Amino acid sequence: MTNPNEKKIPTFCSLCGPTMGCGIYCYVKDGRLVRVEGMEESPRNSGKLCPRAFASAQWLYSPQRLKYPLKRIGEKGEGKFEKISWDEALDIIAAKLLDQKEKYGPESLAILSPARRSYSDYLYRFLVVHGSPNYGHSGICAVQRAFGFAYTLGVSMLAPDYNNADCIIIWGGNPVYSGTPQGGLERILNAKDRGTKLVVIKPQMQPDAAKADIWMPVRPGTDGALALSMLNVVINETLYDREFVNKWCYGFDKLVPHIQKYTPEWGETITGLSAEQIREVARLYANTKAACIYAGNAFDQAVSSNNAVRAVAILIAITGHLDRPGCNLAPTFNPNMPRVKSVHLRERYTQEIVDKLVGPEIPTCFQPFIEGTSSAYYRCLDSILTEKPYPVKAIIAPGTQPTIITRGTRRVIEALEKLEFFVVVDVMQNASMPWADIVIPVATMYESDHPFEGGMGNWLMARNQVVERMGDYKSDYEFWLDLGVKMGYGDDFWNGSIEDCMNNQLENFGITMEELRKHPTGIVYEGVKSKYEKYEMMFSTPSPRLSRAPYLPQGKVAIYNTTFEENGYNPLPEWVEPPESPTATPELLEKYPLVLSDTHTSEVYNAGWLRNIPYLREIQPDPWLHINPKTAKEREIEDGDWVIVESPHGSMKVRAQYFPGISPDVVMSLQGWWQGCDELGKQGYSLVDGAGTNGLYSIDPEKAFDPLVTAMPKQTLVEVRKADTTPKRGRG
Ligand code: SF4
Repeated sequence: MTNPNEKKIPTFCSLCGPTMGCGIYCYVKDGRLVRVEGMEESPRNSGKLCPRAFASAQWLYSPQRLKYPLKRIGEKGEGKFEKISWDEALDIIAAKLLDQKEKYGPESLAILSPARRSYSDYLYRFLVVHGSPNYGHSGICAVQRAFGFAYTLGVSMLAPDYNNADCIIIWGGNPVYSGTPQGGLERILNAKDRGTKLVVIKPQMQPDAAKADIWMPVRPGTDGALALSMLNVVINETLYDREFVNKWCYGFDKLVPHIQKYTPEWGETITGLSAEQIREVARLYANTKAACIYAGNAFDQAVSSNNAVRAVAILIAITGHLDRPGCNLAPTFNPNMPRVKSVHLRERYTQEIVDKLVGPEIPTCFQPFIEGTSSAYYRCLDSILTEKPYPVKAIIAPGTQPTIITRGTRRVIEALEKLEFFVVVDVMQNASMPWADIVIPVATMYESDHPFEGGMGNWLMARNQVVERMGDYKSDYEFWLDLGVKMGYGDDFWNGSIEDCMNNQLENFGITMEELRKHPTGIVYEGVKSKYEKYEMMFSTPSPRLSRAPYLPQGKVAIYNTTFEENGYNPLPEWVEPPESPTATPELLEKYPLVLSDTHTSEVYNAGWLRNIPYLREIQPDPWLHINPKTAKEREIEDGDWVIVESPHGSMKVRAQYFPGISPDVVMSLQGWWQGCDELGKQGYSLVDGAGTNGLYSIDPEKAFDPLVTAMPKQTLVEVRKADTTPKRGRG
């Protein structure tokens, strides 16, 4: 109920990072945000919220908020700064970037970003105008999945039709902890109530797996092997859709002999699942007419990522589960709703710019997929040290923390020590800030406005500013416009007018931002019903993203991919071992007998965010390691003990959490710990040996990156031992 002294302002939450989040009402009293509640009218969440949203006020008013720009006055890593004005900060950045552009070329600038944000296209725009291709994205992004699906099925994403499915496979994803409360999870639970069979494939028995009819605790990083074994069953037991294969698939005849070596018995040795379980799930999926697969982020972080995704795409296609009711659906364009215009400037992203990308030699046709990957993020940092193919000299890092969020913590710190100019842009103090030359504070989502389209593809709403700003800072959007003007790029940045920029983005709707603000809960456009079997459109129409690619040349599902073949890659999906695993490096098992992987989202945290929020820390106070009680007891580790986890590459200190729903030879942690991690700080642990998982993985580009789509696996071998609980040294 609304208190008469409170103002009720509609906007939306983005605390888990999405471009457009759940609709919320913010209650403001005496100019302060006092509470939020879910917006019933929002097609995205229908009033439901996750725990993060309820921590909004603590986040907004955190003592760690950055309120003024800062300039480093101490040594790198020391964390000593002085306050400067917004204008002075922009002057310093612009002068340095222009000087470096002159001396080293525009490509010497890299912008590192978190997973896609509402301001991501502003970063691209800045880079395109400046002339650099070096955009890296820390996220466990969807690019790798988009690549594998697009080059096999002609569309980069396929939505599982949960509402009509009789069998749902959740594979390597987590609809309980990520996505909006009303997203996949509610529809999966409704389907379950209808009697739909639920199969969950993931190493840990998380809440969705606990609800499943079949849980497959696959060994981390081996989803590709499982998909290949399932293909073996489907083909050898003739469970495929002959009519679809004959009419719409290219290269099935070549797949048949190729797949023979990937028997379920072979799959058992790699995945840790029994051959019988692999057969059971392959049969269930293939024999259920309305069956869909949700392929999650685990596919983006495997060394054989492109192979794993192509194998799943082929599985969907040959079983006849493509773009049919209850199956995996290609997007249906909604003609009733225009799109918010992107500020990306893709039309000016020339081949000349792309060719300067830091990274491996990738055939031109695949390049649109390499930009902005997590490997590009890492490679931009690595080039500072290797100077290959040239040294990156300046990095701007908006909303991301390279020291905790990418692989090889030690090497990242070494790179930041050597980097000539480093700018951190954030709402809050973060783990990379001590190395920054300039720190730019930006507004939270409650202190800025912007237009967004989204929801179920039919909702347009303004993010409304809820409270006044508390210092000398602006929104992320305004920062890029202001910097553009200072650099002399004003014509491309609306001469610094954010209102003009937002009005330009709304042009397709024929309204202005001011008019949109008059619709407090946004404008809902008429939806459209899914159309099925859009095969001509999928296989024969080039996607704008792939305009430079030879696109599914046969106009059919590319089981045998001739584009891959022409460019020297295996045209059929194959198994590639991770850098370290029980089967790839059995010689390491004596010293490191357990497989380690991590998740990046828990019920309250996302990547490196939100650890400084007291309400969330009460729910999940410490960095944890999920360990089977049997494995822990063998090492005399009690539930809750601090433990050291050691791999061939590094170590971390976390709290053991007894977790019966995990195989005895697998342990899992949560990525992104540092911020607010007081307990470890008090014990003298630093970024390098604290709770960060990323220091434990291989960073050897020859072994650890998918050579084509540049995925970085998050899987290695470790041993776990009880930690010495006495402080290690003075605070690190
Ligand atoms: S899922 Fe949670 S954090 Fe994400 S937008 Fe919705 S309420 Fe906010």
